[in-house]
Amino acid sequence: MKKILLIQTGGTIAMNAKGAGVELDPEAWSKVLYEEIPELSEIAEITTFPLFFEDSSDLNASHWIQLADCVENKYNEYDGFVILHGTDTMAYSASALSFGLRNLSKPVIFTGSQLPMSSIRSDARRNLVNAIELATMDFKEVGICFSDALFRGNRATKMSIGDFDAFGSPNFTPLADIGIQIQTRVLDQFGSGDLQNLASYSDEVFVLTAHPNLNPEFLEGLNLSKIKAVIIRGFGSGNFCIKGTYSLLPFLDKCREHDVVVTIVSQADFDSVDLTQYTAGRAALDHGSISGNDMTLEAALTKLMFLLAHYDSKTDIEALFQKSLVGEL
Ligand code: ASP
Repeated sequence: MKKILLIQTGGTIAMNAKGAGVELDPEAWSKVLYEEIPELSEIAEITTFPLFFEDSSDLNASHWIQLADCVENKYNEYDGFVILHGTDTMAYSASALSFGLRNLSKPVIFTGSQLPMSSIRSDARRNLVNAIELATMDFKEVGICFSDALFRGNRATKMSIGDFDAFGSPNFTPLADIGIQIQTRVLDQFGSGDLQNLASYSDEVFVLTAHPNLNPEFLEGLNLSKIKAVIIRGFGSGNFCIKGTYSLLPFLDKCREHDVVVTIVSQADFDSVDLTQYTAGRAALDHGSISGNDMTLEAALTKLMFLLAHYDSKTDIEALFQKSLVGEL
């Protein structure tokens, strides 16, 4: 029987009803989880590991490092890893770990739920059972198991607040479809050799959402000597205002003067940024921006955080950002 490490980090799955809402309750959670374990043991030999206990909106790079260290420390003892995690930032954590944990030869599967495990209509049990089963299989990367699919972690994004089908992977086919049978669709491996834990992330990245009437004066307050990369969430194929007082081009020029990497992703989930298509995109290119292509915001952000922590040269960072490192492009 395969050995699976079940790492707990909090999230709704571990919460309890509180008035009209839910809240974290470590004691109640450990009772609920331990009731499930005997049945889960039909699928795999499971060891639980409480790492931290947070709503995932409170997580940051220090938690991603704890997760990567935990997988690294236990790597030889287990065949697969399941990480129970809140849905709000699950795609950020999964993306960050995909860049941090290299040469994976075992599955690292994130899952969580839309309703607490303790709630009668919860989706938690189904997601947990599926994630454990997937963690016994041949996947060699970081994935997100939710509802009836396993997604590549750095391609997934939270798409619904209210549906049990909370995640999607707009630009990449799921790694597996979960029905009566589990149908594996993609079995890739990124790198071979021993596991490398490179988890280290810079927080010198700023994300800017373009919108009509975005006042460039607000951007003058940004201290560009402290920011090393900016991600602009543009419209459609990567456009934003380039005319009159609302033009973002002077901001791009200021970024270039400060050696800040400027990348463009889209507010649209499906398909790829193409900065050659419209005048605005071409202007962005002329003013020193680079395309995030079809990356999710979560992947683009964590990739830049990862690259900035490992490389100093803007040219290297820009080149690596535009290259697929672990299937994110
Ligand atoms: N706020 C919760 C979290 O991300 C939401 C969830 O788990 O679904 O921790």
